[in-house]
Amino acid sequence: MKTFVYVDHFKGEVQPASWEALGLGKSLGSVSAVVFGSGLDAITKAAFEYGADEVLAADDAALTDFRAEPYAATLAALASSASPDLILFPTTARTRELAAMIGVDLNTGVLTDVFELDASDNQLVATRPIYEGKVLEKVVCSGKPVIATIRARAFPKPEADSGKSGTATKVEVKSDALTEVKGYSASESAVNLGDAGVIVSGGRGVSNNPSLQPPAGLDEKQVEIWRAQQGFALITELANVLGGAVGASRAAVDGGYIPYSHQVGQTGKVVTPDLYIACGISGAIQHLVGMRNAKLVVAINKDADAPIFKQARYGVVGDLFQIVPALTEAFKKKLGK
Ligand SMILES: Cc1cc2nc3c(=O)[nH]c(=O)nc-3n(C[C@H](O)[C@H](O)[C@H](O)COP(=O)(O)OP(=O)(O)OC[C@H]3O[C@@H](n4cnc5c(N)ncnc54)[C@H](O)[C@@H]3O)c2cc1C
Repeated sequence: MKTFVYVDHFKGEVQPASWEALGLGKSLGSVSAVVFGSGLDAITKAAFEYGADEVLAADDAALTDFRAEPYAATLAALASSASPDLILFPTTARTRELAAMIGVDLNTGVLTDVFELDASDNQLVATRPIYEGKVLEKVVCSGKPVIATIRARAFPKPEADSGKSGTATKVEVKSDALTEVKGYSASESAVNLGDAGVIVSGGRGVSNNPSLQPPAGLDEKQVEIWRAQQGFALITELANVLGGAVGASRAAVDGGYIPYSHQVGQTGKVVTPDLYIACGISGAIQHLVGMRNAKLVVAINKDADAPIFKQARYGVVGDLFQIVPALTEAFKKKLGK
């Protein structure tokens, strides 16, 4: 099978799931890394090291900033002439748009958020979540090429081999852009939960420590938020020690404790870390759909009957304000931090 893997990056920083897609493509046959942008030498080198048989690079000032029109036009033209069987993307906001546009251009289907791909019997069968993750569907795409965006951390990342190298093949650029990027500003979505190997999440329980004495002059709501911020400081410290990210339930977000970009669940992010530590989260179904594919779930909750414990491999019944700092200290010692 001939596979193209689109290497998604922002200003040269590659989305790690691009390399996971490359490993998947390699396991199916020959794999070409497709790289767009300007100044692509470092990414080209990395693509060879991660196992690309060839690198197809559109290295051009017109592609410095991602814009859907020139990127889609360039990729669709390339795919039309090279006829790959499969085009893989890591699932990101950019690639959802790009994959959809080339799906239209190439008159084929797009499978998003795929986390299993079976290539037996001369057919590609993809497994992906639908209905907010309540049901997993197995889908066959009858169009060619098959276009799929893969979920981050669902497929193994290949080992980089620094001994491998090569020269990129130049791709002709279609630069008829309708938009121009005038600049960037940091946004809440800078929190990258999708790629995190460890997530420590807080829920409404992080505000529940009546013994904390707030500064004078705060009203009731401000006291609640202040208490929650003390709770999230503990959660952040644990996440930092473990090299992880901070997540949250919707109750914590709606309560104004933490920005929406941290929300995990049906109306937040779907995450698949190796370790998910839920602190003061009850385990409502809308939260579970966002984290139930974590490899290992640990729950800390005062209420022994909280539904989150059904999802957890390890559960601690107790006050997070005691357990989280104790865990942080234990991990600091264990990890020599
Ligand atoms: C359409 C829709 C979409 C939704 N989308 C999402 C979503 O994307 N993500 C999401 O999370 N929710 C979502 N929700 C909301 C969801 O139904 C729950 O209301 C929410 O997940 C509850 O958050 P929580 O567990 O933090 O709060 P609660 O349910 O109030 O639970 C707080 C928990 O903290 C424990 N606790 C309290 N104090 C402590 C302490 N000191 N130490 C330890 N434990 C303590 C309590 O025992 C309790 O179990 C959605 C709801 C709807 C209707």
